[in-house]
Amino acid sequence: MSSTPVTNQPVAVVTGGARGIGLAIAHWFLAHEYRVALWDIDAETLGRTAGELNDPARVLAIHCDVSQPDQVDAATARVVDTFGRIDALVNNAGVAVFKPINQTTFDDWRHVLGTNLDGPFLCTQAVAPVMRRNGGGAVVNIASISGLRASTLRVAYGTSKAALIHLTKQHATELGTVGIRCNVVAPGPVETEMAKLVHSVAIRSDYHDVIPLERYGTTEEIANVVGFLCSPAASYVNGQVIAVDGGFDAAG
Ligand code: NDP
Repeated sequence: MSSTPVTNQPVAVVTGGARGIGLAIAHWFLAHEYRVALWDIDAETLGRTAGELNDPARVLAIHCDVSQPDQVDAATARVVDTFGRIDALVNNAGVAVFKPINQTTFDDWRHVLGTNLDGPFLCTQAVAPVMRRNGGGAVVNIASISGLRASTLRVAYGTSKAALIHLTKQHATELGTVGIRCNVVAPGPVETEMAKLVHSVAIRSDYHDVIPLERYGTTEEIANVVGFLCSPAASYVNGQVIAVDGGFDAAG
């Protein structure tokens, strides 16, 4: 470990932080005086994002595939080495494959589960001891309304997000005892690159028909709730799932 001084300024790790919802979450933390480590598999976008944020004292970009234990361990060590602590972990990196069951290959299944479920398991496992040394912290896992209710084309994606919700409750139960709160944000559809890729015209019109607010969410609307859950204002919130979906889930 280097002799980098440990400051009192809090530190957040955001996986999949190079773009989309993760980047909006990083902006929330930076606006609230955190230092931020962005972990992402897309080195090119990550480099561009770090350049645009242009704050090397407070932003650390790390190329990391969250489904790979050695990369997660190395990224955790680098954050500790650079910033000295970790107060918040947002497991946001995710991938989507929307296909009927009979077209979903085992490789699709493993890719989706590897990123969306193995990733949060590995990252929380690596970061929790660092938080614990510091007296506690907050973990927020980004699931989806697809993890709250089943729908067609989402056999791998929906299953990964439902399992992530339960993983969070397991973590909340055990890690709560050492001061680490674990919660879930379950977004409805949000206008990002992922949505452009997997939301067909049919999927878009289905959503518009059933979302009481009659629109997709913005990345900032998700980030605001994630930030709240990581903040002292949420100090007694643990093991909860908050849907940020314009009323989609409530409308049944
Ligand atoms: P994006 O695809 O726009 O951004 C996700 C980022 O995560 C990309 O940079 C991606 O890189 C990166 N990533 C993918 N796999 C890994 C990995 N193994 N390790 C590290 N980084 C990785 O997604 P969104 O911002 O739309 O979504 C963020 C989260 O929100 C996801 O978990 C998603 O499931 C969830 N969500 C999104 C919704 C939406 O409508 N957008 C709705 C509900 C939930 P690369 O481009 O190379 O894949």
